[in-house]
Amino acid sequence: DPSTEAYRRRHEITVTGDNVPAPITSFEAGGFPPEILKEIQRAGFASPTPIQAQSWPIAMQSQDVVAIAKTGSGKTLGYLLPGFMHIKRLQNSTRSGPTCLYGGAPKGPQLRDLDRGVDVVVATPGRLNDILEMRRVSLKQVSYLVLDEADRMLDMGFEPQIRKIVKEIPHRRQTLMYTATWPKEVRRIADDLLVHPVQVTIGSVD
Ligand code: ADP
Ligand code: MG
Repeated sequence: DPSTEAYRRRHEITVTGDNVPAPITSFEAGGFPPEILKEIQRAGFASPTPIQAQSWPIAMQSQDVVAIAKTGSGKTLGYLLPGFMHIKRLQNSTRSGPTCLYGGAPKGPQLRDLDRGVDVVVATPGRLNDILEMRRVSLKQVSYLVLDEADRMLDMGFEPQIRKIVKEIPHRRQTLMYTATWPKEVRRIADDLLVHPVQVTIGSVD
């Protein structure tokens, strides 16, 4: 489609992989429910950023995604909106929202949040691995896994924790990796953890 090609060229989008869908170039075309569109309007966002436009339709057709785009390019919503759509499709949703697990704070309140049962865990690898080792969380129901800031996590030495965590998650899942840079350490872990991912790159990357 010439308009897809023009949009990709204009925004320096490179894609590789099978069955790559056209980018979604407006929020209205995204197929998101009204409650999400309302929040986007409230935030004052006029149109998707290129990484959002191209990674959404890939994620929403349940393919694995590698997304490489610089800091500030809008990667969060790239995986979050398809994640919301994923949760809406789940039969066993708890409807009780997210839990954040991070180091440098007491574990007690985080453990109590987990005990409510949650649909989303947002975690740093060190703290999540600690809580897994305490057997206070199970990842056996996880079906949508995002490795955000993949390059930063590896730079900080968290590769062993990431690998231990992912071993606890069923193979039958969708995996998305978002990163600002694409060095060989990140490529290697992507090769190990993702299955036939579609790769989206915005601009030129290191
Ligand atoms: P990254 O993870 O790539 O560094 P973020 O997801 O943190 O980028 O987004 C960077 C900033 O851009 C945030 O302030 C976010 O609210 C804003 N933003 C995200 N998507 C859009 C959009 N479609 N239009 C305008 N601003 C956006
Ligand atoms: Mg980010």
